[in-house]
Formats: sequence, structure tokens, C-alpha cells
Amino acid sequence: MSTDQNAMNELHWLIDMVQTIEVGLVVLDRNYNIQLWNGFMENHSGVSPNAIKGKNLFETFPDLPNEWLTQKMESVFLLKNRSFISWEQRPYVFEFKNYRPITGRADHMYQNITLLPLASLTGNITHISIIVYDVTDVAINKLQLKAANEQLEKLSQTDSLTQLFNRRHWQECFEKEYERFARYGENGSMIMIDIDNFKQINDKYGHPAGDKVIQNIAHILKQSLRETDFAGRYGGEEFAVVLTNTSADESKYFTERLRKKVESSQVVYKNQIIKVTISIGVNSLSEDTKNSASWLSGADKALYLSKENGRNQTSVYKTK
Ligand code: GH3
Ligand code: MG
Ligand code: MG
Repeated sequence: MSTDQNAMNELHWLIDMVQTIEVGLVVLDRNYNIQLWNGFMENHSGVSPNAIKGKNLFETFPDLPNEWLTQKMESVFLLKNRSFISWEQRPYVFEFKNYRPITGRADHMYQNITLLPLASLTGNITHISIIVYDVTDVAINKLQLKAANEQLEKLSQTDSLTQLFNRRHWQECFEKEYERFARYGENGSMIMIDIDNFKQINDKYGHPAGDKVIQNIAHILKQSLRETDFAGRYGGEEFAVVLTNTSADESKYFTERLRKKVESSQVVYKNQIIKVTISIGVNSLSEDTKNSASWLSGADKALYLSKENGRNQTSVYKTK
């Protein structure tokens, strides 16, 4: 075979490969008119190379992020450097459907994109190549892993009976909240809640009925909280709450409403109506609050006072 023939063959093979490779290849001239559009691009866009050759990219695909992509490509022309666009930055540039059965969850193809400056024989950048990689599998795996991790984290922080924070996670948030006070002097109130005479409920109606009562109170509590407040199941039938940016008076207003809501609510268990009350202790941050432990123990002491004074009431901790 002559060298000419060899060269011809190589060119032929190259064109074949460009056409069939599972990567999108596009070549644009300086005005973003399409010069090359390979088989991958044809298969996914439904537009054939013949139909598109010489046409402007943005006129043919008006849904492309015109301004953003132009800016990227202009800088490739200018700096003569290649540029990468990751799916994490932008899920896709060309809106292609995802047909892969394994990754059926995604309805579009995730893409990594390389923008490549193409030089003429004289060294001028006259064209640009867009290389499109289908990274749907990788993207879906990563997104699913992220979602699973988030779910796992949430699970590890949540009490399964009440869906409130569990004690460990609540304590972590509590320590952070105390830090905010220590650093920035942010107001806040700690509230401890305990169900009154709960042993009798268990004794009379059974443990599962008691669980339902605990759930009911957690539900009422959740409905009463603001976005920045947080509540945890501190013990069996004890709840701890932090109201951020809330004074003692405001907290007492909150707890009294909560207490009355609980008092007027009821749980129906096996055709029996169960009613309970709660006792509450409030301790608001002040210069007397030495550390997070004393913030908590103040609320505990106030709760104890509520029990001593006859239950079904709120007490506010006072140092003197
Ligand atoms: P007090 O008014 O003084 O609080 O009286 P009490 O009977 O509620 O006393 P205490 O708070 O010490 O009792 C807690 C009881 O709660 C003891 C335990 O049997 C019950 N308990 C703890 N955890 C659970 C739970 O997860 N489910 C149920 N059903 N009962 C629990
Ligand atoms: Mg208790
Ligand atoms: Mg109790």
C-alpha cells in the first residue's frame, strides 16, 4: 500500500471512529456555526449532521444556555486554553433524554463537557470543539449515595418513637446554642417537660398506650415550634426544648399555651380516652448562666418546683 493510501485509510478510520464513538463531538467556527456533529450528537438530538451543517448552534438549539456558554467559549478562543464543565456545576448543557435502563431514575443525561480550542496550521484558534461525555451513571450513583447518607444521618439523630431529636443529637445542638450565647450574647430559653403521673398511665392502660401518649405530646410540641427552635426526647417521658432568641416571659407564654393544649387533648386507645398533663421548667440565659450544664440544671430545678407545687404548671428558674 502506498503512503498516500495509508494516510487515506487512517483518515477514513478516524472519521469512522469520530462518528461512532460514545462521546459527543461538535466543532464550531468562530461564529458558532456547526462544522462537525458526530453520531452521538445525532442519536441524542435527533438532528442529522447534514441538516445542521453550517447552521448557528444557538439558533438551532434555542434552549441552550446561550449567554453562559458563549462566555465560556469566548474565553477559550481568547486564552487558547481548554475549559471543563462538570455535571456538578451544571447537570447538562445539551438537554438529551436519558434512555439507559439502569439509570432509569434520571430523565435527562448528565454531562461533563470539555471545550477545546482548535488551531489552524498557522496557529490561530479558528474553531472550537465541544466534547460531551455522558456521566449519567456516575452522577446518579453519587446523588443516590448523597441522599442515602443524608437519610442515614437524619436517622441517627432522630428518636424513632417521636421523630424528635434523640438525646445525643439534641445535646449537641444545645451545646452549640450555648456557644452562640457565650460568644454573641444571644438570648435563649431552655425548657424541660415531664409528663405527670405517667407511671399510672402505663399501669392502667399498658405500655403501648403510654407510648401513644408520648407520641401525642411530641406531635403537639412539634406543631408549636418555630423553625429555629429545637426539641428532643430527653428521657422516657421527658422532653427538652430550646427556644432561640426568646426571653423568660415569652417562654412562659409559650409553655403555658403548650401545657393547655396538652391538657385539653386526648389519646384514644382501644376505645379508652386517656388524658394527661405536663409539668414544665424554664431557664433563660443570663449572666448567671455559668455553662451549658448550669443552663440545663436550672430548667431541671424549675421542673422539680412545678412537680412540688402540684404539677400541670410552668415554673421559671430564678437564681435568687
Ligand atoms: P411525675 O409526675 O413525678 O413525673 O410522675 P411519673 O409517674 O411520671 O414519674 P416519672 O416521671 O419518674 O416516671 C417515668 C415513667 O415513665 C417510668 C417509666 O415506666 C415510664 N416510661 C419511660 N419511658 C417510657 C416509654 O418509652 N414508654 C412508656 N410507655 N413509658 C415509659
Ligand atoms: Mg420522668
Ligand atoms: Mg413523669
